[in-house]
Amino acid sequence: MMLDATDLRYVTSDEFRVLTAVEMGSKNHEVVPLSLIVQISGLRNGGVNKLVGSLAKRNLISKVQNSKYDGYRLTYGGYDYLAMRALSKRDSMHSVGNQIGVGKESDIYIVADTEGNEMVLKLHRLGRVSFRAIKEKRDYLGKRKSASWMYMSRLAAQKEWAFMKILHEHGFPVPRPIDQARHCILMGFIDAYPLRQVSEVENPGKLYSSLMDIIVRFAQAGLIHGDYNEFNILIHRETGEPIVIDFPQMVSTSHENAEWYFNRDVECIRTFFKRRFRYESALYPRFRKSVEESGEAGFKLDVMVEASGFGRKEMKVLEEYMDAVKEGGHDSEEFSEEESEADESEADEDQEAGSPDSGAKPVQDEEMPDAPIIQSEVHSEDP
Ligand code: ADP
Ligand code: MG
Repeated sequence: MMLDATDLRYVTSDEFRVLTAVEMGSKNHEVVPLSLIVQISGLRNGGVNKLVGSLAKRNLISKVQNSKYDGYRLTYGGYDYLAMRALSKRDSMHSVGNQIGVGKESDIYIVADTEGNEMVLKLHRLGRVSFRAIKEKRDYLGKRKSASWMYMSRLAAQKEWAFMKILHEHGFPVPRPIDQARHCILMGFIDAYPLRQVSEVENPGKLYSSLMDIIVRFAQAGLIHGDYNEFNILIHRETGEPIVIDFPQMVSTSHENAEWYFNRDVECIRTFFKRRFRYESALYPRFRKSVEESGEAGFKLDVMVEASGFGRKEMKVLEEYMDAVKEGGHDSEEFSEEESEADESEADEDQEAGSPDSGAKPVQDEEMPDAPIIQSEVHSEDP
């Protein structure tokens, strides 16, 4: 979907009040009745009538005819607008550029601040894969059903933010976290190629050990990436150094399946190096040993994240959602046709999964392994 930066400027303050009212109303209503929008916005009835019309025309909300009453629902576009407005109010972000990535559950844009410095905006899109399938599997959403795609997308962003911050503060090679609002995070732009697009490296053994070292450093700090693969490892264009991205699925080394996640991360790298670079090594990290060394790091990032506000409860809710999406599968037609929670206009944008565990697809695919993903001249803000 397109992000319309011009809309950022052309929403009046009354329209904004109405949009916010729809967002608030959707906490308890799947479809927010007009009367509630009037009540929350504090505007006059007639006025609201006109305003919802103009917001609906711009796809920021959508009208839903219900058997009981007519009402409105916030669209992805409307939620994007609210998040971007918050970021621009705080002067974190000023303009929107090209889309550089579209994953199964995120959209990635190049954006800039007032001085023209380029950054990356990641908009989480959980629920793009139909919620219906998930809801049938488990009832963990509880009373939150109506706002589920918004809520889950926001949780994913908050989790990614919490981890990116703590990892960056502790010297891990990750993007620089800049700001977070609703389902969005703003981070430093990395001038790099996803490892997926790299067909040759000078010294595969060296890269292999850097990547395994990072896994071990994560584990020593109490963390497992959980989706550590060629999609989520960027290779810096100039230095050739790896940078790790994409953290919504990170788990603690004290997670009940920690060893399994750890081994899967290790195995992803081994398999990729075998296939892509014909490189195989007898050396690879083991979970127990890595965790036993955890004293060396001197800090427990899993504990610190929990303390930072993204607590165990939020972690659990998100994890169950992610598991359910995997179990529910996105391979079945019936799921995408029963789109009920997410904005209908999104339904045709569902992406097929890259690999079962990677939530992502690079902009280009395998046919163009060396193509740079970012064409324009940009300056990198990260090492
Ligand atoms: P998803 O959750 O959809 O997998 P990712 O965070 O993995 O999203 O990002 C998807 C793609 O967007 C990456 O493969 C990369 O090409 C690009 N990307 C993401 N973050 C950055 C960044 N900070 N700098 C440059 N490119 C990025
Ligand atoms: Mg990814």
